[in-house]
Amino acid sequence: MNCIFCKIAAGEIPSRKVYEDDQVAVFHDIQPQAPVHLLVIPRKHIASLNDAAPEDAELLGRLLLAARKAAEDAGIAGSGYRVINNCGKDAGQVVFHIHLHVLGGEDLGPLLAPRA
Ligand code: AMP
Ligand code: ZN
Repeated sequence: MNCIFCKIAAGEIPSRKVYEDDQVAVFHDIQPQAPVHLLVIPRKHIASLNDAAPEDAELLGRLLLAARKAAEDAGIAGSGYRVINNCGKDAGQVVFHIHLHVLGGEDLGPLLAPRA
């Protein structure tokens, strides 16, 4: 499979990993949008949240818990952080291997603001 995040999970292309286990890997985003910007991925290739199946429920939970651990290890659990999943075109998903962004280390401002 020609998938950049599968290759990162397999160690076939370099990344700055901060955590990995048999199911999940966490590494620094190559174009950080905040002082802390990590990506949490499953080793299993799931293209997007739209492609997750009921049997992926535990794995999806593991992704969230890995996001929390990554925030704790980065020292931003107390100050707060944002976990984002972009799903599909309108959300701007670029890499079609499901991932969570973990952003923090500064005041991120409001995500949801009333439309003008
Ligand atoms: P998304 O728009 O949610 O699909 O986000 C994909 C993210 O992957 C972007 O924030 C990119 O900066 C990041 N990214 C793409 N290639 C790499 C890479 N080789 N290593 C680390 N992060 C990457
Ligand atoms: Zn993949």
